[in-house]
Amino acid sequence: MGSMEVLEYLDFHTSKHSHNNEEHNFIFNEDNLQEYEASILSGLELIQTSIANNEKPFTGILPHELALEFEHVDLNAPLNDVASALEEVNKLYLKDAVYFHNKKYLAHLNCPVVYPAILAELILTSINSSLDTWDQSAGGTLIEQKIIDWSCQQLEMGEMADGIFTSGGSQSNLMALLLARDHYCETHLDNHSIKLNGLPEQATKFRIFTSEMSHFSVQKSAALLGLGYNSVVTVDCDHKFKMKPEALKKAIKRAKNNGYIPIAVIATAGTTDFGSIDPLHQIADICQQENLWMHADAAYGCGLVASNTRRHLLSGIERANSVTLDYHKSFFQPVSSSAFLVKNKQHLHYVTHHAEYLNPLSAQQEGTPNLVCKSLQTTRRFDALKLWLTLRIMGLEKIGKVFDQVCALARSSHVLFSLDPDIDVIHQPELSTLVFRFNPSYPELDGLTITDGLIDESNQYIRKTIFRSGEAVIAGTKVYGHSYLKFTLLNPQTSLTDIQEVLKIIKHHGLEYLKIQSAKHTQEMLEGTQ
Ligand SMILES: *Cc1c(COP(=O)(O)O)cnc(C)c1O
Repeated sequence: MGSMEVLEYLDFHTSKHSHNNEEHNFIFNEDNLQEYEASILSGLELIQTSIANNEKPFTGILPHELALEFEHVDLNAPLNDVASALEEVNKLYLKDAVYFHNKKYLAHLNCPVVYPAILAELILTSINSSLDTWDQSAGGTLIEQKIIDWSCQQLEMGEMADGIFTSGGSQSNLMALLLARDHYCETHLDNHSIKLNGLPEQATKFRIFTSEMSHFSVQKSAALLGLGYNSVVTVDCDHKFKMKPEALKKAIKRAKNNGYIPIAVIATAGTTDFGSIDPLHQIADICQQENLWMHADAAYGCGLVASNTRRHLLSGIERANSVTLDYHKSFFQPVSSSAFLVKNKQHLHYVTHHAEYLNPLSAQQEGTPNLVCKSLQTTRRFDALKLWLTLRIMGLEKIGKVFDQVCALARSSHVLFSLDPDIDVIHQPELSTLVFRFNPSYPELDGLTITDGLIDESNQYIRKTIFRSGEAVIAGTKVYGHSYLKFTLLNPQTSLTDIQEVLKIIKHHGLEYLKIQSAKHTQEMLEGTQ
């Protein structure tokens, strides 16, 4: 560059030019607070209209039908204004979204959310702090740490406890198994460090014990950690779908006799399907005797912490080495909001890496809190602010009351369903799910014998037909090879009347399926006799 060119170059970058650059106008700062407000307000209006006019949890649209709407969207041709873009979002998304706040959304572990947390979401996104280091978050780091310390206290995990916010229960469970694996190697294999040297020879023999009802992220984590699906030993459950302590003892003994090395037990405090809580004290006793890492997966059950009447169901969780909590399930928080806690904060060092540019060891020695030292992630959302504002505006007790209410609704629904001759219920809910199936009391319909196979098919049909109609959204699952239906109740607005209405729809579609099949059957008989 000649000196004239340098001057021109510098001139171009003076405020005169850069302020007129239109592309800068979208970068959020003090110059466009009005545009920011206007766009937020138009977004707000769109949300309010969607929620106010929402009647069904879903429109029932099929993927290929909705995909047609996307064909003409050219991402290289911006619409250039907020209103048109929002109109498009409405057409492509909001119009046909699945609404968790709707009273008849009864499917998965998705909750309606509390609005203090949505307010927090706006703040944390606008400021865009990243919680990996103090120098990217300051107060954000202290807020997360205080929420973590509070969570450890709520679970009575002791003075040495600590933890970190994660993206969800799956990541928390992965961390649990990582810590358990590395801790075993450090303490049992002559200080072997997996961080430095990778897996030891013995790793192919490591075994992890969990109930047959535990979450699939246990298997997935074992695979990611180089231990493989086969390292996970599934332990039998009792009729309440809780892990049998005797079966656990036997499984550990059998594994040892066969030359395997037990390293951890994963207890579930609230299984995804049944909400069943494994016997935490008995599992803790076994882990103590066998010197095994105990992890408690309370992704779903964590809401009990807030309950005045059901807190005791979590008794024993304080004895676990690590715990998973999904606030985005039973604390009515928006996705993501989740934490991983450990009883002994020293154990978090298995995921610590000091990067000179980010979190040098010297910073730690100076006492600067850099949460990245405890996390699998680097850049990380300030999710903790959502629970913070929830606790500050609303308070824990109200969260607990909402969770109590949906647990009570599950109990009442259970009574209702148990009295129905055409419905089989398979468990008495401990939390807020209900697993059941349409199983008509009549053994045949117009000459068609109602077999187990037909019942399985009819329940699959019921679920699909209801989803297509959008009148309600319910879930399905398989229990010991058979098709069942499932409600996951997390909406305090859902009433027993809503449940009765959905039950009626279920039975209607169940009968409809059997009628279709019996008509087919009759047709085939007629054709056969011709
Ligand atoms: C939902 C769930 C998980 C996984 O949590 P995500 O937040 O979806 O990753 C793990 N364990 C249990 C028991 C769950 O119900």
